[in-house]
Amino acid sequence: MKTSEPTLVHACCAPCLCAFLDALHEEGHVPTALFHNPNIHPLMEFRRRLKAVQALADRERLPLIAHDGYGLEEFLDAIGAQRARPGRCRACYAMRLEATARVAAERGFPRFTSTLLASPQQDRDALCDLGHAAARRHGVAFDDTDRRHVHDAGVERARRLSLYRQQYCGCIFSEAERYRDTAVELYRGADPHLPHAGPAPKER
Ligand code: SF4
Repeated sequence: MKTSEPTLVHACCAPCLCAFLDALHEEGHVPTALFHNPNIHPLMEFRRRLKAVQALADRERLPLIAHDGYGLEEFLDAIGAQRARPGRCRACYAMRLEATARVAAERGFPRFTSTLLASPQQDRDALCDLGHAAARRHGVAFDDTDRRHVHDAGVERARRLSLYRQQYCGCIFSEAERYRDTAVELYRGADPHLPHAGPAPKER
């Protein structure tokens, strides 16, 4: 999509934002990032990911709207009784895309998108359905361009810039899914929460 219009970019994390930026600039977008991620737990992990996005935005001179309050209650309210995938993830996407559409409308952005569209781990069809529905409710457009092909380059760029790279999707449920088979690492003295402390178990 060739455009020179301002675009509000929901930034889920620094590596995915890295992946997005080159493509957005190449296509002529004028991006502003929004960090609204009540799904990231626990608090110190939330702060690490927020700080990484802030560091990237500073480096790239990218305008950033940062919702820096810890949103555990907002997340739990959003998912309600849906504690398992895929319902939990759908509610999580809806929460973040709705907030982004609302901010876009309030601040005069004609369109928004999300770096979640760069992640091969996320459900693209659900993101597109929910993004367009939120866009209709708020009278803006949702750019659903598939950017999964730039994901690995974004992670590599984040590594080169020494930006924090998370080890699990975000919520406390995904943290448990990620580490449930890693107790043996702790017994050996390694901390699997630290980035790249050892071989990563497969994403679930
Ligand atoms: S696994 Fe990821 S997308 Fe799913 S609810 Fe947790 S943070 Fe949200």
